[in-house]
Amino acid sequence: MAPKAIVLYPDEILTTPSAEVSKIDEEIRLLVDDMIETMYAANGIGLAAPQVGVLKRVIVFDTSEDRTGAGHLINPVIIEHEGEVISEEGCLSIPDYRDTITRHEIVKVAGLNLNGEKIEISAGDLLSRCLQHEIDHIEGVLFIDRLSKIKRDMFNKWFKKHRSERF
Ligand code: ZN
Repeated sequence: MAPKAIVLYPDEILTTPSAEVSKIDEEIRLLVDDMIETMYAANGIGLAAPQVGVLKRVIVFDTSEDRTGAGHLINPVIIEHEGEVISEEGCLSIPDYRDTITRHEIVKVAGLNLNGEKIEISAGDLLSRCLQHEIDHIEGVLFIDRLSKIKRDMFNKWFKKHRSERF
């Protein structure tokens, strides 16, 4: 078990929808382990499989303060949502960029655990935002895709400049 390299924007893996997991086997168990390790190593609160280069509908998350509450969901879907909230977000695949977007305030998410059991999570606050962010990833959607046109243009300019400074 080792942390994986995180796939960075604008890699097209990040904008490709992931495939449903049809069988929960050893490969999926190892994937979840690797993703949790990678999330902790990067000091993130959530990670989706495409971010480690795997186009499968698997997400991990931990919004606990002591970082010992790692959860995972296979084939997660939002089955209920309520309210709206505007808050700041970032993404491990787009280092150093943060901006504010609108999300559902409360969500109920259904999915499978590694035992193949159906589970439901009702979430508000940080966990709600985190789950929505990670579920977007498995659809090939990034938080910058949810910015207004003006803000997206600002991001594009930032990215161009940032990239020319880095490479
Ligand atoms: Zn992200």
